[in-house]
Amino acid sequence: MAGEPQADCLFCKIVAGEVPATLVRETETTVAFRDINPQAPTHVLVIPRVHHRDAATLAAAEPQIAADMLRETAEVAAGEKLDSYRVVFNTGSGAGQTVFHAHAHVLGGRGLQWPPG
Ligand code: 5GP
Repeated sequence: MAGEPQADCLFCKIVAGEVPATLVRETETTVAFRDINPQAPTHVLVIPRVHHRDAATLAAAEPQIAADMLRETAEVAAGEKLDSYRVVFNTGSGAGQTVFHAHAHVLGGRGLQWPPG
């Protein structure tokens, strides 16, 4: 069921503390932790505690939690003292999504090119 923890979901396991992660921030509705394969000096993932396959599905089902996630990306950037940063929601495998639990990438600490690849 949408929103319920999924037994085979890596990020649900991180939320549950079953898979270790380097936590950056936690709120009632979100968890932020460092990406295991960082693409920039700061690369933090912000995820909702509830399970939805991607950010679009989350926003449609639980818009308040999607807003919480977005606010948390700004809190992470402020905590990391980033003047400039990028927030990425890879949505669908064709866009590079590999973990199907909604997440925002917060990337910064180096110059970022546009357009992305
Ligand atoms: P996606 O490609 O789905 O947009 O992003 C998934 C991200 O999760 C990738 O950047 C990947 O490096 C990260 N990731 C995959 N497995 C783990 C893990 O076990 N721990 C952490 N902290 N990050 C992970």
